[in-house]
Amino acid sequence: MGQITSVGLSQALENNLLSTCQRRLPYETCGVLYGTEYKSDGSGKVIVDGFIVIRNNSSSATNSFSFHPEDWIGVYFQAQKNQRNIVGFFHSHPQGTALPSIRDEQDSIPWRTYLIVSLTKGNKMIAAYQRSSPHQWVSLPILREL
Ligand SMILES: [Zn+2]
Repeated sequence: MGQITSVGLSQALENNLLSTCQRRLPYETCGVLYGTEYKSDGSGKVIVDGFIVIRNNSSSATNSFSFHPEDWIGVYFQAQKNQRNIVGFFHSHPQGTALPSIRDEQDSIPWRTYLIVSLTKGNKMIAAYQRSSPHQWVSLPILREL
């Protein structure tokens, strides 16, 4: 598989994702990203055009997340049924920066594109990463899409 070079995200979607994660404080919010991965044209671009929250099943959900298995299976099959493409995952850091935590590095969900939503007061932001191996999180630029 080719490299991902950028993630496209509209301002509206970014705002929606930030407020969705904000509403679930003090817990981490997690879910999947829908969109399109442009492999064939060589641009390595991922366009995110939607997301869905999956219940956080972690026993310490203020500082970690794990997908609720039923939700995750449901979302996965709904995506296939509706021909929506899952391009990655997102989760929030209620207290921390938008950098991957040690726990994130240990987590083994094998998807390539990750968004981390930082809800640190005064500095809410989203950062994008490609994960090429468990300990290798490569920062990706977020491009503003209409
Ligand atoms: Zn994290």
